[in-house]
Amino acid sequence: MLTQEQKYTLRDRLHSERRRILAHAADGLGFTMDRDRDRVGRDPMDESAEEWLYATELRIHDREKKLLTKIDEALDRLDEDLIDECEDCEESIGFPRLCARPVTTLCVECKERRETDEA
Ligand SMILES: [Zn+2]
Repeated sequence: MLTQEQKYTLRDRLHSERRRILAHAADGLGFTMDRDRDRVGRDPMDESAEEWLYATELRIHDREKKLLTKIDEALDRLDEDLIDECEDCEESIGFPRLCARPVTTLCVECKERRETDEA
């Protein structure tokens, strides 16, 4: 079981991570809107570099969207007092591991076992 203080720490971390992602997403949006489609005289190299950047932004957004979902789920688990419970074995995940990775749902052992299974 986590102490009240540990839960506050995790909540803090999840919220600041959330803010960081949203700020970054806003930056990405600015980048997209700044794309100057009417610029004349650019060479094809420029154009493909720009397309590549644009595609990269979209991919980042996709990954960040998934992370945001995970953060929201972690906050829900925190509210329900389940954040420290491993999804697989129902043992305690442990505060140090949650601190390093607040969105995790698995203890170290189960995480390693899943990775071995997947390999
Ligand atoms: Zn486990």
